[in-house]
Amino acid sequence: MSELAHASVVELGRLLEAKKVSALELAQHFLARIEATRELNAYLDVRPEATLAQARAADARRARGESGPLLGVPVAHKDIFVTREWASTAASKMLAGYMSPFDATVVDNLKRAGMVCLGKLNCDEFAMGSSNENSAYGNVLNPWDEKAVPGGSSGGSSAAVAARIAPAATATDTGGSIREPAAFAGVTGTKPTYGRPSRWGMIAFASSLDTAGLMTQTAEDAALVFNAMLGFDPKDSTSVERPPEDFTRHLNDGVRGLRIGVPKEFFGAGLAPDVDAAVRAALGEYEKLGARLVEISLPNAHLGIPVYYVIAPAEASSNLARYDGVRYGHRARDFSDLTDMIKKSRAEGFGAEVKRRILIGTYVLSHGYYDAYFIKAMRVRRLIAQDFQRAFAHCDLIAGPVTTSVAFEFGEKAADPVAMYLADLYTVPGSLAGIPSMSLPCGFGAKGRPVGLQLMANHFEEAKMLGAAHAYQCATDWHRRVPAGY
Ligand code: GLN
Repeated sequence: MSELAHASVVELGRLLEAKKVSALELAQHFLARIEATRELNAYLDVRPEATLAQARAADARRARGESGPLLGVPVAHKDIFVTREWASTAASKMLAGYMSPFDATVVDNLKRAGMVCLGKLNCDEFAMGSSNENSAYGNVLNPWDEKAVPGGSSGGSSAAVAARIAPAATATDTGGSIREPAAFAGVTGTKPTYGRPSRWGMIAFASSLDTAGLMTQTAEDAALVFNAMLGFDPKDSTSVERPPEDFTRHLNDGVRGLRIGVPKEFFGAGLAPDVDAAVRAALGEYEKLGARLVEISLPNAHLGIPVYYVIAPAEASSNLARYDGVRYGHRARDFSDLTDMIKKSRAEGFGAEVKRRILIGTYVLSHGYYDAYFIKAMRVRRLIAQDFQRAFAHCDLIAGPVTTSVAFEFGEKAADPVAMYLADLYTVPGSLAGIPSMSLPCGFGAKGRPVGLQLMANHFEEAKMLGAAHAYQCATDWHRRVPAGY
């Protein structure tokens, strides 16, 4: 039966279409696997009744003659998306047990396409982190190696797809939280252009960066699910209004003649030799497939981390001001007056990393520091974005490593926030520029841990990027590897 769980979204859609399996059977199959892999701690909330009801509804739609490649295919959601039928906590004590009165647009879009929700996935608290060690509900284990982190902040999403306890999972990327965990867990993680997915109902971290995306086994699956998931949403003021497009349209284009830019700054000191070797081998594969590699430069990319750690905390400090114990979220039990109630509620509800970001953010936005830090960071952000525009004059896509090393160990960086922040060295520049990017499994490094290849495209060119990823996945089988025991 594990064949069923190992099938991709596209394959499951075909099985459903051919009536070889029902949505209900699929849901039951995945729920049983979730139950049997509880020790991974990938899921925060599983409600079989709600899942089975959605599966029955999908089967009923098919029985009425409806069809669709996603109708009845299971999906799980990162606990950053609010859901009516499952608790929405952002992996924070602050929102323990919170039931949203509505579904996030992304959740709703997938539900309308007939996808069946398996539950909510663990992550770093308010999506702040690179290892999933900041969840108030415990670490998620990496199915490849339980000593290794699954990456963050979307660690539940990456672990769930890697362990085949969800064929696809939503995730969010603010500075790397889809690509880094995808690389660490050996799955395909795709972040579209900022503004393409709706942020409505996505619990806010840094609003100018937060982008919903997917963890899947394949690029083909991501393209197919994006067709249902992405699109203009009048409820989100930064949603981009563009005609709907078919993200699968370039899947069979191949890469002959494609110019792939290789940023020289991404291969310097700090890149572990095992990751370097796997990424270079993947670039070699692209050459064999007919692509042309061109060296490019992103001279300001190294400023990405300091810029990001001014802008993201600034926006977070503002977004998180809403958790005051008054309207929703945790409220302290004992307090003397309103100010004391707010102080205690926030002190008790937020974890250490979230507090650190609120402190940094409040600092860089305060009078006297605003120009020195926040405005300066915004200016450098523009320079980083311009680097990409210059580079894309010479290439169609950009490729390089996702992370400097394979997955690190639990506790290895937890006491050193700066070391943890550096995990996003190669992902943050693309986030600041708002361009689409993804991580593809491209081999294994030290201790048999997965390595990711990063692809980046210019704004709104995710279909081209997914096509190049699909070409690689047709020629290699790294994305088909499953950790032992799953
Ligand atoms: N690791 C980065 C951070 O902690 C990115 C997180 C994210 O993309 N959500 O901010």
